Amino acid sequence: MKKRIKIKDLLESTDFGKEINVKGWVRTKRGIKTIAFIALNDGSVIHNIQVVVDITKFDEKTVKFITTGSCIGVTGILTESQGKGQAVEIQANEIEVYGTADPASYPLQKKGHTLEFLREIAHLRPRTNTFGAVLRIRHAMSFATHKYFNDKGFYYIHSPIITGSDAEGAGEMFRVTILDDKNPPLKEDGTVDYNQDFFGKETNLSVSGQLEAELTALALSEVYTFGPTFRAENSNTPRHLAEFWMIEPEMAFYDIHDNMDLAEELLKFLISYVLEYCSEDLRFLNNFYDNDLISRLKFIVENKFVRAVYSEAVEILLNSGQKFEFPVKWGLDLQAEHERYLVEKHFKKPVILTDYPKEIKAFYMKQNDDGKTVRAMDVLFPKIGEIIGGSQREENYDRLYSRIKELNIVEDELWWYLETRKFGTVFHSGFGLGFERMILFMTGLGNIRDVIPFPRTPRNAEF
Ligand code: ATP
Ligand code: MN
Repeated sequence: MKKRIKIKDLLESTDFGKEINVKGWVRTKRGIKTIAFIALNDGSVIHNIQVVVDITKFDEKTVKFITTGSCIGVTGILTESQGKGQAVEIQANEIEVYGTADPASYPLQKKGHTLEFLREIAHLRPRTNTFGAVLRIRHAMSFATHKYFNDKGFYYIHSPIITGSDAEGAGEMFRVTILDDKNPPLKEDGTVDYNQDFFGKETNLSVSGQLEAELTALALSEVYTFGPTFRAENSNTPRHLAEFWMIEPEMAFYDIHDNMDLAEELLKFLISYVLEYCSEDLRFLNNFYDNDLISRLKFIVENKFVRAVYSEAVEILLNSGQKFEFPVKWGLDLQAEHERYLVEKHFKKPVILTDYPKEIKAFYMKQNDDGKTVRAMDVLFPKIGEIIGGSQREENYDRLYSRIKELNIVEDELWWYLETRKFGTVFHSGFGLGFERMILFMTGLGNIRDVIPFPRTPRNAEF
């Protein structure tokens, strides 16, 4: 057999009359008299290529086994298509059936399926147009992330996934242990003796790579992590996963304004990149799920984000005359409904809010001179609410130390973090961009379970 050519390349080819080979999965087969038309997809692009089969040239069995979901290889002549809707097609000379798919039990027959149903068959949903598009966009965004930072001279840091500190305070953690769950060693007071566990102490899956990224930023100046993070938060929302990916840049010599500039530039770069390189996938999502998707993406790229402080946002919400489910009051955290009101109804642009009350933010954020607020920043997007959380970090040893004490954080677990404020400390900043939240925005889909191949959520770890 000839060397395989990807459908993406064939659809752009004008090598008519040439014999080529394609391999892929059959989306549909239909026939008129002695001709069969097969729509074949290999995932390289959202479009199928049409394979035209003169049934009289093949034995009956081969043709019978070509059904929706089966995997085949076709060698044939590339021709200019007679039919509407495609430019090229293949006149089949040889067909090899690699894997059949019984029409009575293959779940992805032609009819449209709900996203909820597709979640139950996450092992097969990559074969749908929707998930093909999502996975290609996910790839493009990963690549664009590395490109953006690499081009700016940032270094990619691998922060640990198993962590010995549970002090980040970003959420509930998943324990990592090898102790016998039926008969764990106990201390004299009856509690589990983690001294005898693998690491000789309690360990968890990381909720964020930030603290370790900070350590390296205070040496390499500008770094980022991009890895999985884990939060045992029992919030069954369309925007929370128990396992999600986070992009976390951390920069020495950046204040909060530099931090905001970087966040805005990164978000615009990622969107521009996907608009350029995933235009066909976006067009599909725009047509089937969200008619405003592409114009919304362009709107973000073309407009400067609004910058405002938390106190101002609270005033706006209080004067809005709007009924919210959750209360609005200075000192309370903003909920997604509040964030979306600010972005979609009030400012009508993405918003970067800064200077939140210190009580609702993490211990490491730089304290403002008012004694009440910290130099936090959240980036709020339409449809999503918070997409980025970040801050300028507290670089002053005494102020950081007193905040740790105030919050009763076990100081012993953070001695190494504190030491960076003792030796060559300097102002620095960083943020976390939830990768799946960004893909949600980029695809126009409504549920975060549909933008990661195999979602982990409360009571669900199948596949
Ligand atoms: P939220 O209030 O929405 O739960 P957070 O304040 O807990 O977010 P951070 O700890 O600041 O979020 O994390 C940084 C970013 O990571 C968030 O802005 C968001 O994009 C993303 N993120 C946080 N939690 C989750 C989650 N459970 N699933 C997916 N993405 C998340
Ligand atoms: Mn959270």
